[in-house]
Amino acid sequence: MSSTCLEETCYQFAASLATPASQFAYAHGIVRFAKDLSGVTPLPMSLLPWRADAEFVRETRETTPLYNTLYARVSEEREFLAETLGAARQVDPFVSRLFDCLPASLPEKPRFFINRNDCMPHGGGGEVIPKQVEMNLMAASLGAVSAKVNRMHRYLYADTEMAGRLWVNDAGDDLVQTFVDAWKIVGGPNAVILWIVDPLEPNIFDMRATESRLVVDHGLPLGRCSMDELGSEGTLQNGDLYFRGRKVVLAYFRIGYAPTHYTTPNCWKARELIEASSAVSVPSVMVQLANMKKLQHTLSDPATLRRFVPDAEATRLERTFVRFAGLEDEIEWKGQRGKARELAIAYPDDWVMKPHREGGANNFFADEMVAQLKKLSPEEGEAFILMEMIRQEPFRAIRLVNGQVEDGPCFTELGVFGIYLSTGSKAAPTVNREGGYLLRTKNVANKEGLVLGGFSFMDSVAPR
Ligand code: ADP
Ligand code: MG
Repeated sequence: MSSTCLEETCYQFAASLATPASQFAYAHGIVRFAKDLSGVTPLPMSLLPWRADAEFVRETRETTPLYNTLYARVSEEREFLAETLGAARQVDPFVSRLFDCLPASLPEKPRFFINRNDCMPHGGGGEVIPKQVEMNLMAASLGAVSAKVNRMHRYLYADTEMAGRLWVNDAGDDLVQTFVDAWKIVGGPNAVILWIVDPLEPNIFDMRATESRLVVDHGLPLGRCSMDELGSEGTLQNGDLYFRGRKVVLAYFRIGYAPTHYTTPNCWKARELIEASSAVSVPSVMVQLANMKKLQHTLSDPATLRRFVPDAEATRLERTFVRFAGLEDEIEWKGQRGKARELAIAYPDDWVMKPHREGGANNFFADEMVAQLKKLSPEEGEAFILMEMIRQEPFRAIRLVNGQVEDGPCFTELGVFGIYLSTGSKAAPTVNREGGYLLRTKNVANKEGLVLGGFSFMDSVAPR
């Protein structure tokens, strides 16, 4: 194969890998439950690694620790969060309820983040730069399974020139190492790390792979429970949280980012118990609030950004921003001045409307966005922001979806995991690094990017 692998023979070779790829997927647990939980099926995955622009990859990686620092600082600022989300809180019950989980005085404790910096390549032909879709500060998943997809690519392409170019993805090892490092800070006798999960999680295999490594290879005491179970059985004793007889030192959320996850009052009680206790929450409520899209918008203001990071870092981060606006903001777009809402209606392909919400499939694009923009009152509009659409050049991709080989034009999104650990609110981080990646590629017809939602497929990076 040639060094760029853009010839027909490369695409044919990729398509011929369907059988060994699906066998590898079953062998290594690159699978999910079928929707009716009747069996398992391989996750959608690429058969041809993405030939990435090297500069795009480098810049996405290098900005990840800078974003870790930025959000670590922002999430310390209770007043700033309250002020920035003040209007959203009035119209968005989820935002409001999260604020209500915060005790009057927050206990001092270590800070742990497992983030993911999601960027898309913007532009084409000449310069391709990363533009950040969002920073995920909560339940950033699919790391361990992405590393397996990467391993599959290294196996299937071992005899080709691609082997030397693939960016090795160790996101699974990185996640394990994060818990091992965190345990050194919070571990102790009778302590337990709790994974807070959805009892019906379709992505359970990814979790079990990491959990079992933590228990067997590193001897970490690990428990798993739902938010409801923790809320109903957890108790506070002298500022410590106890669950089923053990002291919870770390609560790692793989659920809790969407209002629908809070099925009982006990789910909220679980959040309140953790916030009031010595247990480290990954993420804490303050961090979750810092992850609202309104913050991304607010931090795109140069002076606001520079309150949190030095000028040189701010300038570098700003290169990864697209435009943001509140619906009622006066902005300039394509030479016209006006209300952002009206300009987004006039140029629907240039904007996406997003609620202050994590978890995918919440955004409004194109006609749907226009319909919403015409209907929302100014007050209701506070629950959303407008974000400029990132423009990338489509590329041809070959993938395996539900046992079928698909071939066609795609877009992609690189998420670099960011790990940040510090011993306290004022302490410098003991760890601030990247930790592997998730590459989600999708057909150009799909606006959203979820793998488990069936919109995108897992991929690997092969810089050109
Ligand atoms: P969520 O918190 O729900 O994951 P995101 O901001 O990541 O929300 O948006 C979901 C998906 O929508 C992204 O993965 C991406 O595919 C698409 N998307 C979001 N913002 C943009 C944008 N500005 N330009 C192009 N696509 C976008
Ligand atoms: Mg996202």
